Amino acid sequence: MTYDSDNIFARILRGEIPCTRVYENEYALAFEDINPLAPVHVLVIPKAAYVSHADFAARASDAEIAGFTRAVGEVAKIRGLDETGYRTVANHGADARQDVLHYHVHVLGGHNLGVMITAR
Ligand code: AMP
Repeated sequence: MTYDSDNIFARILRGEIPCTRVYENEYALAFEDINPLAPVHVLVIPKAAYVSHADFAARASDAEIAGFTRAVGEVAKIRGLDETGYRTVANHGADARQDVLHYHVHVLGGHNLGVMITAR
């Protein structure tokens, strides 16, 4: 998979497309998913260009990985999911039906999510 700097999340990071921001730190931005699959559905993306989890895990600095991971935790806290529970999902590649080729983690919660997230 190659990174396309015109992908929709890159455009959100450049401010070319609006988003509903939930949280931001030096390394990550979190915003509402435009097509929520649960009462809480937030996407967390690194601010630098990584196509997928594999790319991020291989190339990101320790500081980026820490900042990104903490951002996921902050989102859950901000949206009140710490007590009730939540699910994080990162789709990688065709079999997972990754649609947007900029690494992102879905944070889902706000009701009982069942045993596993369903495919669309
Ligand atoms: P994935 O299938 O893991 O690549 O998920 C991509 C997610 O991005 C989907 O849940 C979409 O609803 C979401 N999405 C696409 N465009 C936007 C946008 N402009 N703002 C917020 N979320 C978006």
